[in-house]
Amino acid sequence: MDIVVIGSLNMDMVVRSGRAPEAGETVIGDSFVLSAGGKGANQAVAAARLGSTVRLVGKVGADAFGSELLEIIKQEGIDSEYLSVSGSRSTGVASIVLEESGENRIIVVPGANMELTADDIQLLEPVITGAKLLVMQLEMDLHMTEQAVGIAHASGIPVILNPAPAQRLSDELLSHVTYLTPNETEAGILSGVQVDNLDSAREAAAVLLRKGVQNVIMTLGAQGALIVNSQGQIHVPGFPVKAVVDTVAAGDSFNGALAQQLTAGRSLEEAVTFANAVGALAVGKAGAIPSLPTLAEVEQFLE
Ligand code: ATP
Repeated sequence: MDIVVIGSLNMDMVVRSGRAPEAGETVIGDSFVLSAGGKGANQAVAAARLGSTVRLVGKVGADAFGSELLEIIKQEGIDSEYLSVSGSRSTGVASIVLEESGENRIIVVPGANMELTADDIQLLEPVITGAKLLVMQLEMDLHMTEQAVGIAHASGIPVILNPAPAQRLSDELLSHVTYLTPNETEAGILSGVQVDNLDSAREAAAVLLRKGVQNVIMTLGAQGALIVNSQGQIHVPGFPVKAVVDTVAAGDSFNGALAQQLTAGRSLEEAVTFANAVGALAVGKAGAIPSLPTLAEVEQFLE
């Protein structure tokens, strides 16, 4: 197995409506779309479409959304042996209302995603240590995440931690991370340095290195990404995109691509350049999983 992703699976329920209802009110909406996601699932699919062998470890509920997510993961050729079904909690869902004004209102119910515990992870130690790389995000129990990253670190397995959604993390967890991939907001929250340009991005990354992160790879939207480590810093520019359709899963596509490239033996700069291309392709297409490119599509883009 090249990559083990321990992460979330969610179903996004997206309602478009002129406006959101007031308390006690009912409004008639315009459309409804169900779309599979969750940062764990998105990143696993991104890496698998680029050619990695991937195992996804996580939990869904015993409901129709859970069955559909499991089916999607299997169809992508991702190993699902350690995807289990909760006896008591629903599949993770995000209920999203998009208003005509562009405003959105989102309620996330993590459900079964939160049921994977630090004790479960102890039993999964051979699964982690048997992979070339561990990929994690922050949509699951934080104590479990700390445990899993600690196991990988102790066995010399490199870890990509995508610190999303943004939250503060202990210095101990950060010191076990090989590649930390925050966007600008997440870097700001983790470092205490507000990031709004390349200089402040460098300053935030320096704080994170002092906390023990080995490599900070900060994603900068259209600007690409910034690599900072003990050898120095490199800004790897993004690829121009003619028409940005939506940025859903841009970060996830970047992380999956970075994982695939690193396990394929590419240098960090090569891996980030490739991941920028994958991110550019993902923002040019609608949705999360449907926007993730295959290896052939990336090669054609880079020709
Ligand atoms: P999201 O939360 O929307 O998934 P994010 O905030 O985690 O995204 P970004 O930094 O916005 O992550 O984007 C991730 C990567 O995707 C960038 O590093 C870049 O490679 C690519 N990317 C994003 N937006 C653009 C864009 N407008 N043009 C070109 N590349 C882009």
